[in-house]
Amino acid sequence: MTSIQHNLQQVRQRIAAAAARCGRAPEEITLLAVSKTKPASAVKEAAAAGQIAFGENYVQEGVEKVQALTAHPQLEWHFIGPLQSNKSRLVAENFDWCHTIDRQRIAQRLNDQRPASLPPLNVLIQVNISDENSKSGIMLDAVSGLAQQIAALPQLRLRGLMAIPAAESDYDRQLAVCQQMAEAFRQLQQDYPAIDTLSLGMSDDMEAAIAAGSTMVRIGTAIFGARDAARNSQQ
Ligand SMILES: *Cc1c(COP(=O)(O)O)cnc(C)c1O
Repeated sequence: MTSIQHNLQQVRQRIAAAAARCGRAPEEITLLAVSKTKPASAVKEAAAAGQIAFGENYVQEGVEKVQALTAHPQLEWHFIGPLQSNKSRLVAENFDWCHTIDRQRIAQRLNDQRPASLPPLNVLIQVNISDENSKSGIMLDAVSGLAQQIAALPQLRLRGLMAIPAAESDYDRQLAVCQQMAEAFRQLQQDYPAIDTLSLGMSDDMEAAIAAGSTMVRIGTAIFGARDAARNSQQ
């Protein structure tokens, strides 16, 4: 077994243990393997161990991997990085999901650029829940307005919310922020009963995210190892 396959097994065990502690079924939580900065060969290794969903942060790099791995049509590609308007077409044409919708204009572009031959693009609204330094994501009070605009776009399918909480090592503080997101998710579900995805939790806070109700954890380092710092800082 390769180290990626070993790490995947460990992460799946962490998910199962965290779910068991709060009485949830592990199947309620999708594991998104974040392969940014890692080569297509690393994705192949993870795919050979049964991993289906992969997350990419950089449009160009992500598209290269999507295109290098067309022989693996079972794979599901999630764009999870900041999205500039001039790159939206590549996301609309190559990805299955986009987690980082934070304005009507980008939603409209993705809708208009999504090829009719593909199913609607699954999208999440990114919420700026705790990181005042981050320019990504919208405030909670703007979620319902943006959701209404997305719901009117036929080539997009609103699936839920995503957040990247500010880094925090204390479990109770991680949990408090994750619970705020979970509450916002439940409120949105009242207006849009079909939404099913709360994308929350990374290598260092996945346990708190799962306890709060995350349905999708985005895990990079714990699966693929540390990233090259120079690439990472492009984030
Ligand atoms: C890099 C990244 C992750 C994965 O982070 P790790 O700490 O390596 O697990 C998850 N989500 C987003 C949006 C990222 O950019």
